[in-house]
Amino acid sequence: MFLTISTTGTPERPATDLGYLLHKHPEKAQTFSTSHGTAHVFYPEASAERCTAALLLEVDPVALVRRGKGRGGAPDAALAQYVNDRPYAASSLLSVAMTTVFKSALNGACRAMPERVGEPLPLRIEVPALPARGGAELVHKLFAPLGWTRVEAVAVPLDEQFPEWGDSRYVRLLLEGELRLADALRQLYVLLPVLDDAKHYWVAPDEVDKLLRAGEGWLAGHPEQKLITSRYLSRRWGLTRQAMERLELVRLAESDDLEVESVDNAVDETTDTEEKPVPLAEQRRAAVLEALRAAGAARVLDLGCGQGQLVQALLKDVRFTEIVGVDVSMRALTVAARRLKLDRMGERQAGRVTLRQGALTYTDKQLKGYDAAVLSEVIEHLDLPRLPALEYAVFGSARPRTVLVTTPNVEYNVRWETLPAGHVRHGDHRFEWTREEFRDWAGQVAGRHGYTVAFVPVGPEDPEVGPPTQMAVFTMTTAQETTKEAKAA
Ligand code: SAH
Repeated sequence: MFLTISTTGTPERPATDLGYLLHKHPEKAQTFSTSHGTAHVFYPEASAERCTAALLLEVDPVALVRRGKGRGGAPDAALAQYVNDRPYAASSLLSVAMTTVFKSALNGACRAMPERVGEPLPLRIEVPALPARGGAELVHKLFAPLGWTRVEAVAVPLDEQFPEWGDSRYVRLLLEGELRLADALRQLYVLLPVLDDAKHYWVAPDEVDKLLRAGEGWLAGHPEQKLITSRYLSRRWGLTRQAMERLELVRLAESDDLEVESVDNAVDETTDTEEKPVPLAEQRRAAVLEALRAAGAARVLDLGCGQGQLVQALLKDVRFTEIVGVDVSMRALTVAARRLKLDRMGERQAGRVTLRQGALTYTDKQLKGYDAAVLSEVIEHLDLPRLPALEYAVFGSARPRTVLVTTPNVEYNVRWETLPAGHVRHGDHRFEWTREEFRDWAGQVAGRHGYTVAFVPVGPEDPEVGPPTQMAVFTMTTAQETTKEAKAA
């Protein structure tokens, strides 16, 4: 099992600096004992212009079996346990060896050259035999989005003497690009076992933590995030789901700062039809409260509660006995807690309200059984392809009796004087819908999940373009869970 890492340099920045970054001296060959064999690190070349570090892992296949963790179970398992590809093919064994041999480099630590750790290097990585389930095509899909300028995966023939036998399931992997060494190593640490699609050890719950740590900076938002996560966690669905949810939080937290600030900086939605203008946000809250009261709701979810204005209004009315605010943004929730003075609240009041961090695109058992859920100005913050996931989490899984959804009516945008033509109202809006588009979506959602839907205009209704905000009021028609998805949940 073999992996080489090469870089190039100049007299001022010699390539041999790689030795410092890897914490392995170019002039020494070193040997380490790992859990399943012996790892050797040496430098086939080491000059100012070019430096290559090689990691060679000798695996003892018999020891692998004796530890009871070899691949077994198949009819020919008795032999396969002893005669297998594990000593030669890059796999999770190599990843584990990397954590032993290149621990500091993986963590991006370098005492000798702290300034170089954060800098991208010209890197060339070769793995001569990489089992790639999914072939060269998958190799490209995995590495190309990560900043490599050259990704090559060449199928290795089964036997060079007998080309007619065709290709093996192995590829020779070559990566070239300017990346930080730690990033490159972390990608390999995750993606080698992902491509091999088999782990030599039992996947424990802390693997999710390991994956998130190794995936920092590149996994959240990777187009193949789901495949990577599920294969890395050996297709253990519970763990995969957990990891996906946490990655979603990471991705959203990255836009968190922008989010909270811009909620306040969004277009000034004050309507000017009354003498003392009432901000549209306030009109929206009034409309929501009225609809909740009309529905007779007492236990209410505020999904995407933001900074807690609606939660605060709900608390003022004792008919709302239980109020749960959910948001993905920790910062928004912190502001909400401060607004509500949660820490100084009497026990009685405090018992009525809960704020929780969560992603609405994932089902959550704790959200089941409520009278009503409010999604006020939330759906337009999701990428359209994620909307079905939210739909399922709310209408298929949580299934409150009443669901209120408000969203901007894009037709009204021409009436905002401060809004340039063709712009959405808020920097983070992924879409804004016409009345017809909203009705279409809401009608389909209602149909799919056993709800009826009515539409309520919010704000002054313009004869041509309608109201600034549109609200859909969904009411469950059947007490039982009627939809196919709901049955499966
Ligand atoms: N409901 C409030 C806030 C609307 S702003 C109001 O009417 O004023 C949209 C809120 O949705 C933000 O606080 C944002 O953090 C939250 N949000 C966006 N996508 C989310 C998701 N996938 N899961 C949970 N919350 C989300």
